[in-house]
Amino acid sequence: MDVADEVVIAEAVASLFLPHLRPPLLALCFSGTSMNPKDFRSLAHQMVDWMADYVEQAGDHPVIPDTQPGDIRAQLPSSAPQEAEPFAQIFADFQRTVIPGMTHWNHPGWFAYFPANHSPPSILAEMLTATLGAQCMSWQTSPAATELEQVVLDWLRQMLGLSESWVGSIQDTASSATLVALLSAREQATQHQYGMKGAAADNADRLVVYASTEAHSSIDKGVKLAGYGLNQLRSIPTDENFAMDPNALEAAIEEDLAAGLQPACVIACVGTTSSTGLDPLEAIGALCKKHNIWLHIDAAYAGSAAILPEHQYILDGVEYADSFVFNPHKWLFTNFDCSAYYVRDVDTLLRTFRSDPEYLKTVYDPQVVNFRDWGIPLGRRFRALKLWFVLRSYGVKGLQEHIRNHITWAQELGEWVEASLNFELLAPVPLGLVCLRFHPPSVQDEEALNALNEALLAKVNQDPRFHLTHTKLRGRYTLRVSIGQLYTTRQHVVELWNLLQTTADQL
Ligand SMILES: *Cc1c(COP(=O)(O)O)cnc(C)c1O
Repeated sequence: MDVADEVVIAEAVASLFLPHLRPPLLALCFSGTSMNPKDFRSLAHQMVDWMADYVEQAGDHPVIPDTQPGDIRAQLPSSAPQEAEPFAQIFADFQRTVIPGMTHWNHPGWFAYFPANHSPPSILAEMLTATLGAQCMSWQTSPAATELEQVVLDWLRQMLGLSESWVGSIQDTASSATLVALLSAREQATQHQYGMKGAAADNADRLVVYASTEAHSSIDKGVKLAGYGLNQLRSIPTDENFAMDPNALEAAIEEDLAAGLQPACVIACVGTTSSTGLDPLEAIGALCKKHNIWLHIDAAYAGSAAILPEHQYILDGVEYADSFVFNPHKWLFTNFDCSAYYVRDVDTLLRTFRSDPEYLKTVYDPQVVNFRDWGIPLGRRFRALKLWFVLRSYGVKGLQEHIRNHITWAQELGEWVEASLNFELLAPVPLGLVCLRFHPPSVQDEEALNALNEALLAKVNQDPRFHLTHTKLRGRYTLRVSIGQLYTTRQHVVELWNLLQTTADQL
């Protein structure tokens, strides 16, 4: 190599970094804003400081804001500004107007619904995702995003103890994943080959879907959206533990078959939303196998618990299933949205969702996975990054420790409730949710108990340190204490239990 060659190479390398392009490029992206490149850097640093303070002081806000409908809107202009506004002003308004109107899901006193966690590594990954601003619909539109998604979903698969026959993708929510499963089941049941005919299947109005009476509302929604119609959804009764009764399922299937209908999909729930009931997957799976019915498992909340060896039993029978979903954005410390959806048969998925317009074709298509063909939206965020950051920052052991603590504290609270003369459990406590009610021996009337517990919940929620929500189990007004927020400690659970008791005494 002579000197001239070396100069050419050096120039080529230098041009890779495009130093001469930096100022004009940056100027371009700031043009029209009130920000310049120096501001961007310093404002970003200020915001990171604010973020670190927020995380450190997560417990200092009231969990839910003291605000009435319309309060926030009344503080905002009714149309967009014509002129650029200073960023410092925007950020000040964020603190002054937005923050007091936020419900703080990452407050240690969050015992409502199920958790929607964030965590420091997940927050940082979301910053990078936003910085890259990539649209990850195809392999070529972001190769690393596709391959990282394949890798982290396979890590998760192993963590849950699922066999190698499963392949995963990230969906925005469990609701979307369940809709994907229902559409795939419909495709399989109607036996249409990939093509435009799929939409108008001859036997579509004979297809039947089964789920328990405790199934999540996203199943009703999915059944409607997937074109089965709600009258084709059978609600199967549950046993005393709020788990689907497989005998009742079998009877419903037999009845539909006798009526000339076609059972197409059973949705089993591991960890029902009201009370974390665990549908018996082995018995349900055997029935699905016998009748060749698609089995989808909705483990949106509970799936995370299966990373604990002592809780992997909740997925016994999962190998009968065709599809499986759980939400790292609920109980695996990964920012919303991040739902892990697994299937066994990618062909059915592709038959249902693939479309190949000319403008999306790439030379790599025969060799690669294009995740746009695995679900409903075309565009996809780079969501694997936050999962990768979380899994590596905590390690499997770190994640296990958090989830194990949550379950241990829930079980302790369950024991305190059982030992109390004035409170009772309304459901078993297999995971991190405790379903309880105030039940003083002097009150036996169910309606009076419902009113009493509704009043108790309202009073407890007046305390800015805590937030709980309710459900009804067999008509009984039930307080749900869901323990799964990353910053919650045992002490928070103890204080909540004290508050429940003292508040109930005053009723
Ligand atoms: C939370 C939940 C869902 C819905 O989850 P999204 O990701 O918000 O759609 C579905 N099923 C069960 C059992 C849930 O607990």
